[in-house]
Amino acid sequence: MFPTAIAGSLPKPAWLAETGKLWPKWQGEGAALAQAKLDATLLWIKAQEDAGLDVIGDGEQSRQHFVHGFLERVDGIDFEHKVEMGIRDDRYKAMVPQVVGPLRLKGRVHETEARFLRLHTKKKIKFTLPGPMTIVDTVADRFYGDRVKMAFAFAELLNQEALALQADGVDVIQFDEPAFNVYMEDAAAWGVQALERAAQGLTCKTAVHICYGYGIQANNDWKKTLGGEWRQYEKVFPALAASSIDQVSLECIHSHVPPDLMALLKGKDVMVGVIDVASDEIETAEEVAQTIGRALKFVPKEHLIACTNCGLAPMGRAVAEAKLRALGEGAALARQRLGGGT
Ligand code: ZN
Repeated sequence: MFPTAIAGSLPKPAWLAETGKLWPKWQGEGAALAQAKLDATLLWIKAQEDAGLDVIGDGEQSRQHFVHGFLERVDGIDFEHKVEMGIRDDRYKAMVPQVVGPLRLKGRVHETEARFLRLHTKKKIKFTLPGPMTIVDTVADRFYGDRVKMAFAFAELLNQEALALQADGVDVIQFDEPAFNVYMEDAAAWGVQALERAAQGLTCKTAVHICYGYGIQANNDWKKTLGGEWRQYEKVFPALAASSIDQVSLECIHSHVPPDLMALLKGKDVMVGVIDVASDEIETAEEVAQTIGRALKFVPKEHLIACTNCGLAPMGRAVAEAKLRALGEGAALARQRLGGGT
């Protein structure tokens, strides 16, 4: 009852990369950097287990950014000549690589860290990949000239890697699609289909994470413009409910998402965000249990997974560790109180 998981990313230790940044520079290079990435992964596996979490992730310690980590292993992308582009409907500017030719995987993308994760925990493991629509929104296209065509091209590559991750022993493969909350019509029209293409043939659990972004200033400012009720999910949830995707990760605590929108995900596992990533204040177990209680009005017990609202990458390490513990303790309290036994 109420298993716990993180959305995906966790802060990188200061000896691995710059802290507090979305695109942090690595501290080392070559073999030393490769080892440091795995050392940091091990540290976060332990922290998640100590916090009592049920589904363990690699905390995305081996990639600089959740989208660009994948793109680095794709042929047809010029990583040398990044250009500045407004992303997420121009909410903020980012330096993005350019698509300059047909897309093809250079080989495996996340084999090392996925196998490392599988080796170092006996719990279920989740691995995250960027979703096709969000990738399309985080690169500059100089080749395809068509967002949908390019999204399906990326979906094929994602599918290749996802099938390989499943063979590595991954239990849950999650695609991150914050762009679904920005281009709602497109998400319903073709984004969900591209996502299903990326998940095609997977027999492990499949998930999609849709959020209002990391707790960075540009996102906090954007949220202030969204009004008293955030109804973005309303447009895409029906398409997701009808899709082959098993689990949906969404924001809940401290957001203005009307909780009844969760009822649109009938039949799906719902990863309810019970940990805020836009505030350093640590949730109490009580608060987490109450958020789970509110979600239970719209999500059946057996379908509720307690999760973070989004990744914790730009946060301080101690804050992130404390939030993981709050997640574990809060879900335990909810199990006791609302689960009908332990
Ligand atoms: Zn997110």
